[in-house]
Amino acid sequence: MSRIATEIDFDRDGRQTDFLRLPHSVDRSAYGWIPVPLVCLRNGPGPRVLLMAGNHGDEFEGQVALTKLAYSLRPDQITGRVIILPMANAPAARAGTRNSPVDGLNLNRCFPGDANGSPTAMIAHYIESVLLPQCDAVIDVHSGGQSLQYVPSTHIRRSPDPNRFARAGALMEAFNAPFSWVFEGAREMRALNAAAERCGIIALGTELCGGGTVTPRALRIAERGLRRALAHLGVMDPDPADAAVLPSRRMQVGGYPFYVYAKDDGVFEPLVALEDVVGAGQPAALIHPVETPWRAPDEAHFAQAGTVVCARVPGRVERGDCLFHLATD
Ligand code: CA
Repeated sequence: MSRIATEIDFDRDGRQTDFLRLPHSVDRSAYGWIPVPLVCLRNGPGPRVLLMAGNHGDEFEGQVALTKLAYSLRPDQITGRVIILPMANAPAARAGTRNSPVDGLNLNRCFPGDANGSPTAMIAHYIESVLLPQCDAVIDVHSGGQSLQYVPSTHIRRSPDPNRFARAGALMEAFNAPFSWVFEGAREMRALNAAAERCGIIALGTELCGGGTVTPRALRIAERGLRRALAHLGVMDPDPADAAVLPSRRMQVGGYPFYVYAKDDGVFEPLVALEDVVGAGQPAALIHPVETPWRAPDEAHFAQAGTVVCARVPGRVERGDCLFHLATD
């Protein structure tokens, strides 16, 4: 049983706002709780959707889009139920950091969580054991965060259930981001999309730009996509002003050869940019040894051909940092 409490009754019609109250005893506050803001809108029976952002606290596009939606959406505009969690890992989102400053943990590596674990594990447990089982679909709005910049994209995980995979694919198409891809052979069982798979519901993820900021373009794509996805799920009426389907490149992302890593410490000189098409063996970046400028730079290469969909932002790199990743059509 989760130790997280809320006054929200998920079966009650109307608009309810509260916090998930996560017991957290610290020097400043012996019997205190960490607030995780939550909005629940319900209008009779119908599709049940969880909208999440702030799974990673330094990914702000989804936090803004869901905060605006939580403020503006009225129960009479929907059928069924929408639960909005704009800062899922609230301590991380409040700090603007990927991982929680309270326990150092990455929420998207904590599922299925632990009812009696550290705060991030307790949030993961609540999402997987309380929220997901009472939903039909979850949309988890990510971006590249501080360290990465993505092309504006949505993604789904390859599900062993073909019916669920087809329904997730249809939701991804409805969102209609400029890029849509499937993570093939995803083995990460600690992520939200794996939690959704365990609960038998469909999950859509996004990677909407990043760099630790919000751009008008990323926000426009997020807000339009969320509206379209909610319409597809039958929660809202489609917006007649937004009936046109824009081009979306369908791609896939595989395992290790799709990724390029720094093999040395130094300063990173990218040799390619987002959306560039690259060949196998092509140089991706130079890592300059600024501390020993008499040494040659280390050259990082693409192991295979593809399109650059993700690029590192900070100039300083350490051995093992991800520089780029590819997708293929
Ligand atoms: Ca993320």
